[in-house]
Amino acid sequence: MSKKYEYVWLDGYKPEPSLRSKVKIDNSAVKWSFDGSSTQQAEGGKSDCVLNPVNEYFMLDRIRPDATRARGNTDMSATYVMCEVLDADNKPHPTNTRNKIKSISTDWWFGFEQEYFMYKDGRPLGWPENGEPREQGDYYCGVGCDNVVGREIVDRHTEACMNAEIGITGTNAEVALGQWEFQVLGKGVKAGDDLWMARYILIKIAEWHGVSINLHPKPLGQTDWNGSGMHTNFSNNKMRDSGSEELMNSMCDALGAVHSEGIKEYGSDNDQRLTGLHETQSIDQFSYGVSDRGASIRIPIYTVQNNWNGYLEDRRPASNADPYRIINHIVSTLDKN
Ligand code: MG
Repeated sequence: MSKKYEYVWLDGYKPEPSLRSKVKIDNSAVKWSFDGSSTQQAEGGKSDCVLNPVNEYFMLDRIRPDATRARGNTDMSATYVMCEVLDADNKPHPTNTRNKIKSISTDWWFGFEQEYFMYKDGRPLGWPENGEPREQGDYYCGVGCDNVVGREIVDRHTEACMNAEIGITGTNAEVALGQWEFQVLGKGVKAGDDLWMARYILIKIAEWHGVSINLHPKPLGQTDWNGSGMHTNFSNNKMRDSGSEELMNSMCDALGAVHSEGIKEYGSDNDQRLTGLHETQSIDQFSYGVSDRGASIRIPIYTVQNNWNGYLEDRRPASNADPYRIINHIVSTLDKN
C-alpha cells in the first residue's frame, strides 16, 4: 500500500543551510532526486542531486487531530524522512555536513537547548505594532496571556515530536516575549538528525498560524533583549561512568585550545550574542567553571556532585548553528585527546 513520505534535507545556502522538503507517495523511502540548481547545490546544466534517506520518523498523529483540524489545520500523518544530499555520482555533496560525522560512536550523547523567536509581520509574536512590550522579567516560564504567546504552537510541536519518537526532553517559554526553547537529546549522529527534524516540524506547524520561526542569535540587535543560543550538553561513556575533575578540565582545555575554530562552527552572527552580557562569555575569550553561566563551558553542579561523572555544557553555539558541525567540532577535538 502506498504511503506518504515527506523528504527533508538541507540546501546549499550560506552561512547556514535552510530546510527543504517535498512529498513522495510510494511503498518505501528510496533514494530520490531534486533540482540542485534551485537550492544552490548544482549548476543548471548538471542540476540533479540525490536525496539519500538516513532516518525515518513515523508520525501517526492520533493525539488530538480534531482540535487542530477545527482551525483549518491539516493532519501531520506521514513518514518524515531525514535525508543527506549526494551529488549525481552518489558521492557526498560538499554541503553534506552530516557525512563528516556519520561514523561517530553512539557513546556520544548530545542534548541541544534550541532557543528561537516566533515572528509575525516582521516583529516578535505578541509585540505591539509600535515600540516594545514591557521589559524582561515576567516572560521566562511565564503563564497567562499577558506573559506568553504561541503556546498552542509549542504544545502541538511537543506532541508531534513525541509522536514521531524524536528525543524531545522538554520545552519552556524564554526571557523575551515570543521567545521559546525546546530541548532534544540524542546519541551519535542521530542527535543531529533529531534536531533538524524537530526544527522542520516546528516551522511546519507555525506555518499554519502564519508565524515564522526566527533562528537568528540576536534578532533584536544590540538592545537589552536576550538573544537565542543553542547550549550543547555533551558526554561520552568515560565522562558518564569514570569521570574525574582532571578529565573534565582536560576536555575544557582541549576545546579552549581550538576556541576560534569552534566559533567558526557554532553559527554566524554569534558575535552579536556572545558579548559578555546576558549570561554569555565574550566571543574572543574562553573560560570554564562550575555552575558558571557566564563561562564558555559550564561544568554542571550535577556532574561535580555525582563524583565528577556526568556531562559538560558548551554555551557558545548560536541558535542558528548546524548541529552536525557542532558535533563534528566537539567529537573531533575530544576523540584526539
Ligand atoms: Mg534557555
